[in-house]
Amino acid sequence: MAITFYPGPSKVYPQVAHYMQDAYTQGILSVNHRSAVFMDVCQRSIELLKEKLHIPADYSVMYVSSATESWEIIAQSLVEKHSYHLYNGAFGAKWREYSAKLRSKSEGYAFGLNEELQADAVYIPSEAEILCFTQNETSNGTQVNNTTLANFSKGYSDKLIAVDATSSLGGITLDFTLADIWFASVQKCLGLPAGLGLLVCSPRALKRARQLGENDHYNSLLFIQENIERYQTHYTPNVLSIYLLMRVMENVDEIGMLSNRIKQQAADWYTFFHGREDMKPLVGNPGVRSDTVITIQADPVLIGQLKEKAKQEGITLGNGYGAWKQNTFRIANFPAITTEEIHTLQAFLNRQIE
Ligand SMILES: *Cc1c(COP(=O)(O)O)cnc(C)c1O
Repeated sequence: MAITFYPGPSKVYPQVAHYMQDAYTQGILSVNHRSAVFMDVCQRSIELLKEKLHIPADYSVMYVSSATESWEIIAQSLVEKHSYHLYNGAFGAKWREYSAKLRSKSEGYAFGLNEELQADAVYIPSEAEILCFTQNETSNGTQVNNTTLANFSKGYSDKLIAVDATSSLGGITLDFTLADIWFASVQKCLGLPAGLGLLVCSPRALKRARQLGENDHYNSLLFIQENIERYQTHYTPNVLSIYLLMRVMENVDEIGMLSNRIKQQAADWYTFFHGREDMKPLVGNPGVRSDTVITIQADPVLIGQLKEKAKQEGITLGNGYGAWKQNTFRIANFPAITTEEIHTLQAFLNRQIE
């Protein structure tokens, strides 16, 4: 089977093949989503997520269809008028766009690729109800670290903080206490097939939802919460995916251990490219480089050839994204990818030096 370094959908854990067979054999695929069997799977997945990822016990974990849906749920159920977005890439920009369609004011600050956000240097209007961050910007391989989030969390304690952690949740340690809303999709660091999203809310976020009382949609946050309190969902969910999530979470290491491995591998990747002339990390500032998505800049012609040659050797590289589509490629550094696969890619890249 080909090795894929695509940053989403990405490599699934090989055990998933066997878990899928089990799901079929155990009759999970035909189970009613209001049944006790489903509720057990639903509850166990949530408990395991909390345990393995260190999500505070009083936070609520909910199932949604995708990270994209979470952007919409946040605007719809947690914002009355005004959201504020801090972003430096395509995913953060899209989030702002989607919010703008639903609410009258969606302002933001587009920061530089190599810029480290400073909480006291950004002007945020006092009317802003929520600050929206993209923890790991998958399009360009940058990240906002826990310290930066902590500074905003302290400096703007009157506002909710929402974090898109789609391509980092399950890969690196996130301090969930620093924000009220976190969300991700399972097809990135969680090593599962696409089609399920996770939305994590603090008690404060849920309190705000109750104040706003928004109940107009099938996916209004209050309705989702009401269902998940009974370990049910607001619509017929992707039961297979929730089951696979449970099985994967049973077997993964706790996040501290995983995070150490991912961060070490990321450091190794940046060292690997250090000093190389034909390909270099797009992000020059080590302080904002992503641990989970390594973005490499090179000549577009070289990238075209590289991807083609890699394909012939059974290796899929991630395409560039948005503004960086032509002159970068991306390497996912997600937990399901093995050290051996990384070595295979590095050996391949070493052979490309002319
Ligand atoms: C992949 C990704 C999304 C979109 O996820 P979907 O599950 O496709 O909706 C959103 N934000 C970030 C940062 C991503 O990497």
